Amino acid sequence: MRLLLVEDSLRLQELLADPLRRAGYGLDAVGTVAELLSSVAVVQYDLIIVDLGLPDGDGLSAIRSLRSLGHATPILIITARGSVEDRVIGLDSGADDYLIKPFNHAELLARVRALLRRPSELQGPVLKFGGVELDEARGEVSCSGKPIELRLSERRLLAVLMRRSGSVVAKSTIEDALSEIGRELSANAVEVLVSRLRKALSEGSTGVTIETVRGIGYRLRLNEEP
Ligand code: CA
Repeated sequence: MRLLLVEDSLRLQELLADPLRRAGYGLDAVGTVAELLSSVAVVQYDLIIVDLGLPDGDGLSAIRSLRSLGHATPILIITARGSVEDRVIGLDSGADDYLIKPFNHAELLARVRALLRRPSELQGPVLKFGGVELDEARGEVSCSGKPIELRLSERRLLAVLMRRSGSVVAKSTIEDALSEIGRELSANAVEVLVSRLRKALSEGSTGVTIETVRGIGYRLRLNEEP
């Protein structure tokens, strides 16, 4: 089990990390929204524990963007904001549970165990096109059961194209989807990403490719199509 702890107070980070590690969990600790987003882009965590007051942004909006990107990882909020309204906002933003500071280690560990037991009911449907399958919630892509390694931005692009399989997707739609990842988009970002994904699909012998529709956008297509 691998956990991500997002807490900007180093003292609290250490205080929380210690009992979690001793309980046998693999733990990565970071202190900013930017690090949270870059960590989940490369690691499939089993649980994310997130403080709300972070130096570069609010934990709540980070949680919302994770959910909008399709991450179904359980999220536990730890915060000093303890009013009923705060809890409701927290849970509505997509978090699964809420722990008010200060709390003791036993309670933290109990909540963590409960969240890890929970079936992944948030799991979204698996997208399919040709032999390619994309499980957005798990961040996994495969072709005929064989896994294909893609980065978050490439998976995001693939998801946008798969949802509209066979239809042309405007470049602006793709840009919107990618900007949610929180990265500054360069002028040719979509072109670069399309060419990376095209290469990955071809190396994975998926039989699926991305067609450029000049002046409009892109669409997914099966290689054998006339
Ligand atoms: Ca804080």
